[in-house]
Amino acid sequence: YEAKARPGEVVVYDPSSDLNTPHRLAMLGELRRAIQGDELVLHYQPKLELVDGRVTAVEALVRWQHPVRGLLPPADFVPAAETTGLIMPLTLRTLSLAIGDAVRWREAGHELQVAVNLSPRCLLEPGLPEQIRDMLAERGLPAHLLRLELTESTVMVDPVRSLAVLRELSALGVRLSIDDFGTGYSSMTYLKKMPVDELKIDRSFVMDMLASPDDEILVRSSIELAHNLGMSIVAEGVEDAETFDALSTLRCDVVQGYHLAYPMGAGAVLDWLEGRGVDARRAREAAPVTD
Ligand code: C2E
Ligand code: MG
Ligand code: MG
Ligand code: MG
Repeated sequence: YEAKARPGEVVVYDPSSDLNTPHRLAMLGELRRAIQGDELVLHYQPKLELVDGRVTAVEALVRWQHPVRGLLPPADFVPAAETTGLIMPLTLRTLSLAIGDAVRWREAGHELQVAVNLSPRCLLEPGLPEQIRDMLAERGLPAHLLRLELTESTVMVDPVRSLAVLRELSALGVRLSIDDFGTGYSSMTYLKKMPVDELKIDRSFVMDMLASPDDEILVRSSIELAHNLGMSIVAEGVEDAETFDALSTLRCDVVQGYHLAYPMGAGAVLDWLEGRGVDARRAREAAPVTD
């Protein structure tokens, strides 16, 4: 346990912030109960490989099924968890749910890799790699079927310590991605050293790439950078067929977005995959034989 700020971390005390308003304290109490109980749910969004149209991975996105306020998006409660002691319990719960779902899909004959988003605070939490190793061992999920998504800023808070933790995770066989690529500040030196095999271009660039030449250049050069570093590149936020086709032409590896599928409950994932299988078979049967 360290009482002082981590190197490179800036701690700002803002007396005008509403950290301790009664509303916020009540919300945090509710969130603590939600994490311990069963109010956190995961929705999954498929990641499609452009080269062959296969879906071999999904991203887990957390929601809070609030008894009164309904289904809440992560923006409504993850930031609050991050500024309190709740982000580690939330993350461990999310990992446990995602690993459980991946095990069930595997038992049903679908080997899907599941990606979990990791908050900045969690990466440097002592014992994280051991906790993940134990969870995988207990549930019997091969480590390569778990991926962790981290943002550039997560890593740049303390690049030296982060690199050590990333190497521990990678040694377990867990896969690692840089999420929201292009929005943060990345050091090329660390990017090259990190045991990361996937870059995810932020959806803000992808969504505007057809209308904005600047965004198109950013997407194009991210694809080239990833490939030069031997990494796979994912475009998130693909909302239409035109963007999908443009990314395919640019040799992007993986796409994710509403054009393909909205995030869905764990039970719907296999139905969706099997539905696609049927569509693909029908398309193949209907296609003229060319060879
Ligand atoms: P992210 O990891 O970049 O996740 C992608 C977000 O884009 C998701 O929003 C997803 O629903 C949304 N999205 C997917 N396709 C499209 C599209 O075609 N168009 C548009 N406009 N949006 C699309 P969501 O679920 O609201 O999550 C927002 C962020 O919250 C995530 O961004 C991630 O940073 C964070 N988050 C989600 N789940 C977790 C979690 O379990 N733990 C932590 N620490 N953070 C999480
Ligand atoms: Mg993500
Ligand atoms: Mg992202
Ligand atoms: Mg994001």
